[in-house]
Amino acid sequence: MTLTTGAGYEIVIGLEIHVQLRTQSKMFCACPTTFGAPPNTQTCPVCLGLPGSLPVLNARAVELGLRTAAALECRVHERSRFHRKNYYYPDLPKNYQITQYEYKIHRPLASDGGLEVPGNGEGPRRIHIRRVHLEEDTARLVHGERGAGPGYSLIDFNRAGVPLMEIVTEPDLRSPADARVFLSRLRAVLQAIDVSTGRMEEGSLRCDANVSLRSPGGALGTRTEVKNMNSLRSVERALAYEGARQRAVLERGEAVVQETRHWDERRAVTFASRSKEEAQDYRYFPEPDLVPVVVSEPGLAQIRAALPELPEARRRRYVEAYGLSAHDAALVTSSQTMATFFEEAVRRHPHPRTVSNWLVGDVAGYLNMEGKELEDTPLTPVHLAELLDLVDGGTISGRTAKEILPEMLRSGRMPRELAEGGGLGQISDADTLVAVIDEVLASHPGPAAEYQAGKRAVLTFLVGQIMKRTRGRANPEVATRLLRERLDA
Ligand SMILES: [Zn+2]
Repeated sequence: MTLTTGAGYEIVIGLEIHVQLRTQSKMFCACPTTFGAPPNTQTCPVCLGLPGSLPVLNARAVELGLRTAAALECRVHERSRFHRKNYYYPDLPKNYQITQYEYKIHRPLASDGGLEVPGNGEGPRRIHIRRVHLEEDTARLVHGERGAGPGYSLIDFNRAGVPLMEIVTEPDLRSPADARVFLSRLRAVLQAIDVSTGRMEEGSLRCDANVSLRSPGGALGTRTEVKNMNSLRSVERALAYEGARQRAVLERGEAVVQETRHWDERRAVTFASRSKEEAQDYRYFPEPDLVPVVVSEPGLAQIRAALPELPEARRRRYVEAYGLSAHDAALVTSSQTMATFFEEAVRRHPHPRTVSNWLVGDVAGYLNMEGKELEDTPLTPVHLAELLDLVDGGTISGRTAKEILPEMLRSGRMPRELAEGGGLGQISDADTLVAVIDEVLASHPGPAAEYQAGKRAVLTFLVGQIMKRTRGRANPEVATRLLRERLDA
């Protein structure tokens, strides 16, 4: 294919997502999978790859894989099997990874599914899922530096053998923003069906992308694989960078090289790391120590029937039942934590649109700024509901509420306590206000006299002075009424 300089290019993106499954034990042994445990404390002969040890398949991992396949509307294969993917690497003591390979009669756990993303202007678009398969995670390498001397690498086998699910999309995504939205929606599904924590920063959800450019609607160009994107934001940034890089290569009249590229978050560039292996390099063959996975139709029907409400259905319900805008409903359902938080807050403060406004406005703004997720903060639905009750009851103003919120998100202190202790409560108490009014009138005798002479407009000035003295905490309606009474007396 030839692309002429100056031609418009279209970016074509497919994603490969690795998901650590929420199981108690590893994929092929009974070792625990607790995240953050001291290095090399969760190991045994099987996950260390010692000779003579035999794998035993984790039934729970298969169930979680099937639950995912059902939620993504995939075709589940009655019979699938595991293969050995052979390669030599320090994080892989067996020198092969047990995974599911697809060729001839051999199928992955499931294939041909899909998930909708909002269209750009048109209706929603379905991103096709090519396959869902199961495999085991590798050990984790930790690279360090030692002063001026050579660096070192440490290895933690706790992660070796942790159940992993790989989800591969067709190259249906057409922009870096598209990829981000898809990944965010997929994560919300995985959280809703409780198969993964979806925490990208802990590596329980990892995303690689295949990226190429082509003339709109033309044949696919040469692709690169981008790795090491550790947040939704870095997925979007890395893909935008890689698209621009390939465009520059093509516009120079050169060819894009098929290779693996790593995203460097700090320098905001992708760099070539190794040439891409072909499937034949891995010498796949069926794993002789494991029997095939056989899925029965009744078992699958049971899993389908037990699926909880999925984010897509929840989004529609929030629009229809709560009157949220499509935009707000999408944000509130963007993670399981946010949706659960929203519903609980609405139970306590039954004004869904107010609750959602605060969540997608001030709360989301704070989280974005701090680079945190809602679950990283001590804020609970009880906090938010109490804050909104205080505003509704006139105890604090909306402005004060906005001032209190960041402190609630930081420290988890209750809004009532902050409003009282922090001196941020709205002042509606007549005695307090009258004292302030008298001070204002005493220090501004001129305007007071003008008012009494009939110049009613100075009232605004005097109310402004009251607000100033109370640092915005005076209830303006009560203050105005009392001021008028005082002047008319
Ligand atoms: Zn083990």
